[in-house]
Amino acid sequence: MIEGLFNEMELCDLLAIRKELLNGAPVIKQALDNRIRQEKKKHEKTCSVCQSTIDPASASSYTLIFGPEDFMKKASFCAVDCLEYFLKRKINVRDR
Ligand SMILES: [Zn+2]
Repeated sequence: MIEGLFNEMELCDLLAIRKELLNGAPVIKQALDNRIRQEKKKHEKTCSVCQSTIDPASASSYTLIFGPEDFMKKASFCAVDCLEYFLKRKINVRDR
């Protein structure tokens, strides 16, 4: 996956990345953290329950982030009904 990214890059960018890595890569780490933070805020493209397309501008779209910090999962819902269904299913699994 990362190798595929390198195939798309120009030589000057590759050299800049190599230099960054030799310096402990603080700029890359910062840029990655910023991108990860942005991605975490976004809704997924489809509802985890009914698979309908999520409207990112809708006030009734919800996204749940759960799990351990280094292996977080994200689930989006088109409406509170789908969020409720998802949580009830989780609660049922937990209570078994
Ligand atoms: Zn839904």
